[in-house]
Amino acid sequence: MQSTSPGWKRLFPEATDAQWRDWRWQLRHSVRSLEDLERLVPLTDDERRGCLETRDVFRLGISPYYLSLIDAAHPFCPVRMQAIPVRAEATRHEGELRDPLGEDLHRPVRAIVHKYPDRVLLLALDHCSVYCRHCTRRRITSGDEGGISREELQEALGYLRANPEVRDVLVSGGDPLLLSTGRLVELLEGIRAVPHVEIVRIGSRIPVCLPMRVDDELSRALRRFAPLYLVTHFNHAKEITPEAREACERLVDHGVPVENQAVLMRRLNSSVTAIRDLMQKCLTMRVRPYYLHQMDVAEGLEHLRTPLAKGIEILQGLRGWTSGLAVPHLAVDLPGGGGKVTLQPDYVLERTAADTVLRNYRGEKYRYPEPAETDCSVPYDEVFYAGSAAPAPRLRIVQRTS
Ligand code: SF4
Repeated sequence: MQSTSPGWKRLFPEATDAQWRDWRWQLRHSVRSLEDLERLVPLTDDERRGCLETRDVFRLGISPYYLSLIDAAHPFCPVRMQAIPVRAEATRHEGELRDPLGEDLHRPVRAIVHKYPDRVLLLALDHCSVYCRHCTRRRITSGDEGGISREELQEALGYLRANPEVRDVLVSGGDPLLLSTGRLVELLEGIRAVPHVEIVRIGSRIPVCLPMRVDDELSRALRRFAPLYLVTHFNHAKEITPEAREACERLVDHGVPVENQAVLMRRLNSSVTAIRDLMQKCLTMRVRPYYLHQMDVAEGLEHLRTPLAKGIEILQGLRGWTSGLAVPHLAVDLPGGGGKVTLQPDYVLERTAADTVLRNYRGEKYRYPEPAETDCSVPYDEVFYAGSAAPAPRLRIVQRTS
């Protein structure tokens, strides 16, 4: 593997090429203290104080690989902003939540979050290769809760077995690809042994922050559990290096589809230029843009939140202007646990029973005539889905007053 990080040898002169490509060496040499960080990157005063003031709030940890992508000369380098704390992160604002998605209200056992009807989140561990400054699950990844034990994972598997409505399991944490391949396989075998689980997803930032972990052994191991999707988290095209590309392509070559969930962050990637470039580059390595997330209302992250209108404006700069495959869903995970909703620009200008007037991506008006027949029931559903149709979703509008 050719590194495009010529700076790494200057930063880590004692490392051999083989060590640099060894993910365990990378983890052993992660930068975890202000003192070590300062030796490698000239910090701004805001960052230095940020490291000190967030010491009791969230872990500091940066893999040498991810650190080598930092632009040492620019405080707004998107890799730097994701890895190095600033003082604002230690400030809490009214309304910010420690558990912004209300997950803890839906934890029937410690390692399971069961919030949606047919899918669960399985928390496999509390560690990551880089502790992202925008992490909204830091109540877990800070280590405050303590790690997830083997017994708790067994309890989670028991929960899956006992709940036949669960057909989709998202394994996350922490980063599940930090488990040894043996332990990961053991966990996936346990999940796959549950007959009603149809698909498995793994949420991981490893392709972004520690791509050398994705070797042939791991990729072959994951392939055994198809249909298994890997959901990763590139936030800026600067993270799409030859190493990251090789990791994603290796997974796809082994039959593991890779999807990307990006987070929109103020002054880090909050422009049409940055998001369009990211989405287009994801597609070039066969990673499908899936979500662009509005930043959650989480403690210490106000400085990274964008107005809702910015995301819609960015989406407007993508739809029609680039491949539809490069346009993610813009999702807002409602504060307190309401679940995800998606937003998009409003293209409807007028609606009548006879037709609808819409604008296209260039702002030009078009008329769509409504058909005379409006009965959209599907007669063959009763044959094809006899006795098995899922109940129709029910909508109940409830005014939340607090
Ligand atoms: S990899 Fe994911 S879980 Fe880990 S710190 Fe980053 S955002 Fe949080």
